[in-house]
This record gives sequence, structure tokens and C-alpha cells, in this order.
Amino acid sequence: MKMPRVVRGYCPFCGKHNDLEVEKVKTKPRSEFRRGQRRFRRVSAGYGGSTRAIYKDREKPTKRVYLRFRCRECKKAHHRPSFRAKTFELTEA
Ligand SMILES: [Zn+2]
Repeated sequence: MKMPRVVRGYCPFCGKHNDLEVEKVKTKPRSEFRRGQRRFRRVSAGYGGSTRAIYKDREKPTKRVYLRFRCRECKKAHHRPSFRAKTFELTEA
């Protein structure tokens, strides 16, 4: 899927349509000091560790795409429901 880098859409902070800059949300490496990560390390340690089934059959054919829409006027960002796509590309103009 292709998507322009700047789209015109509704900004919930301004309450009107503005130019929104589209950014792809990158996954950051998990911090080992966060509450959830500490709990995960404690729960999955030792005998009977993994709490979820390990999916090793195949790689998923589509990946979930998370986007951030940043308003050009107020510089605030919001999200829209994510979707799945085989390939995702941000295009100029
Ligand atoms: Zn705005």
C-alpha cells in the first residue's frame, strides 16, 4: 500500500481539517525496567515459563501498520485504527 506523506484530515485538537504529516510508528526496544517487562521476566522464568503459545509455523504474510498523524498547525499527533498490509510505503506529494 502507498500513502502520501502529508494528508488532509481531521485534527481532534483543533476541531477542524488540517494538513497532517504521516509518520510510521517504529517499535522501540523494550526497556528492562518497565513494570510489564519485569513481570514478564519473572513469570516466564523457570519451569513452565512461556505464557503464550510460540507461533513457529510460518511468518505472517501481512504486517500490522501503525501510523501517527501530526497536525501541522498545533504539532499534536493522534492515531487512527491500525491495519494490515503486505508492504507499506510513504510517497511524496
Ligand atoms: Zn491540530
